[in-house]
Amino acid sequence: EDPWWIEGLELVRKLERSGYQAYLVGGSVRDRLMGRPLHDVDIATSAKPEEVMVLFEKTLPTGLQHGTVTVMEGGRAFEITTFRQETGYSDARRPDSVTFVHDVRDDLARRDFTFNAMAFGSDGTIVDPYGGQDALRAGVVQCVGNATERFGEDALRMLRAIRFAAEFEFELLPDVWQAIIGNRAKLRQVAIERVSSEWDKMMAGRGPEQACHYLFKSGLLGNLKEEIPDAVVHAAEQYRLNSLSWEWDKWGGAFSASADGLQSQLANLPLLIDPDLRWTALLCGMGISEEDGRLLCRALRLSGKRAERIAGVVGMNEQIAAYDEEFPYEGWTYAVLDYGRAVALDWLVMTGAWDTVSADERSEWLAQLPVTSVSELNVRGDELANELGRRPGPWLAEMLLRLLEEVAFGEVPNEKLALLEAARTDMESEGYDG
Ligand code: ATP
Ligand code: MG
Repeated sequence: EDPWWIEGLELVRKLERSGYQAYLVGGSVRDRLMGRPLHDVDIATSAKPEEVMVLFEKTLPTGLQHGTVTVMEGGRAFEITTFRQETGYSDARRPDSVTFVHDVRDDLARRDFTFNAMAFGSDGTIVDPYGGQDALRAGVVQCVGNATERFGEDALRMLRAIRFAAEFEFELLPDVWQAIIGNRAKLRQVAIERVSSEWDKMMAGRGPEQACHYLFKSGLLGNLKEEIPDAVVHAAEQYRLNSLSWEWDKWGGAFSASADGLQSQLANLPLLIDPDLRWTALLCGMGISEEDGRLLCRALRLSGKRAERIAGVVGMNEQIAAYDEEFPYEGWTYAVLDYGRAVALDWLVMTGAWDTVSADERSEWLAQLPVTSVSELNVRGDELANELGRRPGPWLAEMLLRLLEEVAFGEVPNEKLALLEAARTDMESEGYDG
C-alpha cells in the first residue's frame, strides 16, 4: 500500500477519535482505485479549520476562508478541508460564498467529475453518490450534475475534463463535449496561470497529443484571457476547421497518412519524454516562429528559462528548415553556431523522435564539431588585437565570428598559432573597419 495512503488514513482515524467525521477524498481516491501512483492526499472532515489546527502539531493555514488547513505529517503535506458547499459563481471562476456543511455527501456535490466525487472512509467504505466507480470502469469523464451548469460555474473545469480524458485515455461524454463547446468563451474569465498550469500538466502527461487535439478541436484556445499570438490561434483554428471533416469516432490516437501536418505532428509528442521538447515539437508543428513561441511562453507565464529554451529550439528548427538540405548540412552548422550547443542538443533529441536521421547520428556529428561558440576558440579577442596591432572594436567581434565559422567548417584548426595566422590573412583580404 502507498505510504501516502497509509499516512492519510492515520490522519482520518485521528480526526475520528476526536469525534469528527473524516474521509480521504478527491484525486487520491480516484487514483488508488485506478492503481495509479498517488501524488497528494486530500482529506475532508466535519471539523472546522480551528479544530483541525488544535488537533495536529504542524499545521499551515493555507486557505482558511475556504476551510483548508495543511497538515505536515511524516514529511508529507496533507490538505484537510472542512465539508463545504459553494454557491453563486457569478464570475465563472470562484464561488461567491462557501458554507460549511455537516454531511460529506453535500461536500461531494461541489466537485467537478463523478470520479473526483468519491470519499473513502477509514473502515474501507466508499461514499460514491454519483457513480464515480462506474465512470472509472466505463472509462468516461462525466460531470457531477449538468455539464453546462458546472462549466458555467467554473470555466477551468473544461480544461480539467480534457486533462483527465487525455491522461486516463477516457472518453469525454457527448454532453461534456457539447458543454465545452458551448461554454468555451467563458475561458476568458479564468486567470491565465490556472489555464497554463492545466495545459502544462497535459503536455507533461500521458496523452499530450489527445489533449492538444481536444484543445484545438473545441476552439478553447481562441478564448484565453491573455494576449496569445495570432499565429497560435490561427493554427489551432485551422486544425478545428480541418477536424470538422474528420470522422469523430476514427480518432483514436492513430493518425492516417493523409492527416494534415499538425495532426501528424501531434502523434510525435508522446515520443518525447521531456515536456519542454513536447512544447517545442507542438510549436514547430503549428508553424509558430521563434518570436511568437517566446510570446506564447511569456503569455502562459512559463519561467523565463523555459521560454528561452523553447523559443531557441523553435528558432533553430525554423532556420534549419529554411535550408532544406540533406545531412550533414551546412545550414545545420550555421544554426549550431547561432544557437549554441545546448539548443542544438535539444533540437536533435526533438527531431530524432521523428526524422529518418537518428539523434545518435546527429549527436555524433555535433560532438565532432570542433567549436560551437566564440568562447570555445583557442584564441582570445585581446590576443588577436595585439597580434594585429589594432585597438579592439566592432571589427574584433566580426573577426571572431569569421574564425568561428572557419574552424567549424574545418578550414582552420582550433589552435592559437593557426588562428592568429588566419586572422592576419583575413585582415589582408577583407576590409575591416577600425
Ligand atoms: P490531480 O491532483 O491528479 O491533478 P485532482 O483531482 O486531485 O487531480 P486537485 O486539483 O488536486 O485535482 O483537486 C482535488 C479535488 O478537488 C478534485 O478531485 C475535485 O474533487 C476537487 N476539485 C478540484 N478542482 C475543482 C474544480 N475546479 N471544480 C470542482 N471541484 C474541483
Ligand atoms: Mg490532487
